[in-house]
Formats: sequence, C-alpha cells, structure tokens
Amino acid sequence: MKARLKASKGTHDLFPPESERFAAVESTARSVFGSYGYGEIRTPTFEATELFARSVGDTTDIVHKEMYTFTDRKGRSLTLRPENTAGVVRALVEKGLQDFPRPIRLWYAGPQFRYEQPQAGRYREFRQIGVEQLGIASPAGDAEVLEMLFRFLRALGFTDLVAAINCIPRGPAREKFSRALREHAATRAGELGTEDRRRLEENPLRLFDSKDPKAVEILEGAPATLDFLDEASRAHHERLQELLRSAGVDFVEDASIVRGLDYYTLTVFEVASRRLGAQNAILGGGRYDDLVAELGGPPTPAVGFAIGEDRLVAAMEADVRPESGLFWVVPDSPDEYVYALGVAEAIRSLVPGDVVETDLTGRGLVKGLARASQILEAPAAYGFRVRGVHAVLLGSREREKDEVTIKDLAARTQDTFPRRQLAERLGTGRRA
Ligand code: AMP
Repeated sequence: MKARLKASKGTHDLFPPESERFAAVESTARSVFGSYGYGEIRTPTFEATELFARSVGDTTDIVHKEMYTFTDRKGRSLTLRPENTAGVVRALVEKGLQDFPRPIRLWYAGPQFRYEQPQAGRYREFRQIGVEQLGIASPAGDAEVLEMLFRFLRALGFTDLVAAINCIPRGPAREKFSRALREHAATRAGELGTEDRRRLEENPLRLFDSKDPKAVEILEGAPATLDFLDEASRAHHERLQELLRSAGVDFVEDASIVRGLDYYTLTVFEVASRRLGAQNAILGGGRYDDLVAELGGPPTPAVGFAIGEDRLVAAMEADVRPESGLFWVVPDSPDEYVYALGVAEAIRSLVPGDVVETDLTGRGLVKGLARASQILEAPAAYGFRVRGVHAVLLGSREREKDEVTIKDLAARTQDTFPRRQLAERLGTGRRA
C-alpha cells in the first residue's frame, strides 16, 4: 500500500455536522450584519508581503515570525493573509474610498494563515468572521459594531459573554506611555528572554503579547493605558461606555488589553469564553484611525473586529444546524430505482425545506428501514437537526399500482396510498 497523505500540521478538515455549524454561523453573520447595512466583501487570500509589514506592524509576532511568505515565479514577495483588515483597507483604497457612501459598512468570512504552534483552538489555517466600518470617528461607530456583535452572539445562543474594553493612547500620549512602560520594565529587563527584550526595545506595547510568566509578572503594576489618555481620547472612551450601557452591552474595563496588532488607536476590545480554557479569546477588535492613510488612502477613521470562527464554534452550546424533516426513500430492488427517483423528486417539490435522500445501496426494504431508524436514533451525526424521519418504502407492489408507502418512524404509523395523493398526504397536518 502507498503511504497515506495527511492534512498539513495546524490545518483541519471540516465534515458534516461540524461544517454545517460553520455554515450556520456564517449565515447568521450574513443576516445579522446585513440587518445593520453591512455588505460582504471578499478579498484575495494572498497579498503583497509589504501590506502586512505596513499595517499589522514589523515588530508584531504576526509579521515577525508567523507569516506564510513565499516568492512567486516572477520574484514577488507574497504572503498568505494572517488577518483580513489590511486586505479590506487595501481593496477600498485601490477602488477609491472617497467614492463610497459613508459610513462604509463591510463584513467578511474566510481563512487566515499564521505559522503558530498548534494547540487546542490554535491553528495555522483558521477562519475569521469580521466587520469593518469606515468613515465615523465618533464613539457612535465603536458602539454600533459592539452592539451588532452582541446581537450576533446572542443569535448564536451566547448569553453570558462580556466584552473587555480598553483605550490606547494615541499620538504624543502613546509615545509617553511607551516611554513609561520601557522605564518601568528597564530595571528587570535582564530577567526577560531575548524576544521580550527586543519587544521592550522596539515597541514596548508589544510586551503585553508575551506569554512568558516573567513578562506577565513584570507588567503587573506597570503604567496603565488609561492614565495616559489625552482629553479627547478620554472623552471618546467615556462616551463609548455610556453608549454601551444604554445598548445593554455587557463590558468591563481592562487596561491589559492592547491587542497584538500595531494599527489600533483608542478603543480595543476582546471577548473571551470560560469554556475554552487557555486559548479563550473568541474575538478581538478596535479602532484603527490611522491605517487607511498609512496604506495610501485619504485619512479615514475606522473600527472593526475579527471573530475566530473555529473558537466560536467550539465554544457554542446551542445547536445551530438548520432544522429539517427527512424523507428516506427506499427502493426494494434495482427494478424500483426509476420509480423511486420519480417519487423522491415529487416529494422534493412538495416539501421544499425538507431533505429527501434516496437509498442507492440496493439492500432492500428491511435494511433500508433499519438505516432510517438509525438516523432517528443518532441525529447528532447529521448535517441538520432532524425534525422527524419518514421512510418511503417502494416495492414491486407500489411500482405496479403507482402507490407509495410512507412510514412515520417516530409515530410508528404506516400508510399506503396512490402516488397522486402525495400532495394532500404531505400537507401540514401530516408533517406536524
Ligand atoms: P487577531 O486577528 O489576532 O486579533 O485575532 C482575532 C481572533 O482570531 C482571536 O480572538 C482568535 O479567536 C482568532 N485567532 C487568532 N489566531 C488564531 C489561530 N492561530 N487559530 C485559531 N484562531 C485564531
């Protein structure tokens, strides 16, 4: 036998019913975000490497050591996108941001790639669902995306999630904060690893990304972002909190949240789930008022978030698979195939939301019926939530007399009737 190929490290395949959970989450995103006027954008999976260096930031872990970068046949440096905000902004700037009505409201869903050490909830290829809103500088913009986010999470059955929010100083205040952080950690820099010493040197804010307990310890009692806000930033932060309170969004202030990407200004936030343990951040987001200009567009304020879809699905308790009835059509022998396919088509037209599967194994009525019972007993393995199972049994008698036998497996009732009566027999009364 030939050696079998395996999925690459850090990637995972999604089969039903798992894949259907992802699809249901994406369709909920489409309907919730759509109801706030957000339209879907799809950008390429790879971009020029320079895009990420300029947006996510040279000194971040992502750009420094996690990117899938390669040269194409013409020697261009390309990178599989590690996140989607940079691509969205690049696309908007390229198309002419100024021609879009304000605010620009977009959402996306798709795979992202980071060369990380895989563990539970951490992959090298993972999926994100995100939102970007451009053109609004006031806290009303931040509040809208957070309110919409919580509506989305509630639609998926999450009721106890809390957002942790922070405000990162900008401009000269950010410089001051960075200096204060560096001074705070300087006396103990010797206790840090090379990586963290580099962070401290190049971009002290990035020290918050460190997972080294020593760095975490040193950061306890470090200067807090909120003490460095200038007046306008403080007003922004306070107004946002008022808006969130009146929108019923649960949040706490958490000065340790700085997010691992350089483009954030002012508001940053995260939502974690206790169910996920160590890798507990389901999503992160914030304001990035300088990014559009940084990427060559007109100065444009913006705010958004990215949800780790894999983690979201893992943390979900509600069964969000679509619900549907199942008709399991069983021809008794190959002689009944053509007849069975005709009956199956007729049922599909009559009950459009339901699933109609034809047993093509040729194992006959008894085994076919046994399979239908199995489906009823173990519906969790199915791509959809099975509302009820009807076995449609088609033997030579049914074929010759143009009849149909339908067995309702839960009610244990069985009925044989002329095929032309299918419509009235499958009426709402029968399917209840
Ligand atoms: P970020 O783009 O780093 O702000 O991350 C946003 C969200 O994406 C995180 O809260 C995670 O839920 C998810 N995420 C980030 N990296 C990974 C990964 N390697 N595997 C799975 N999910 C991830």
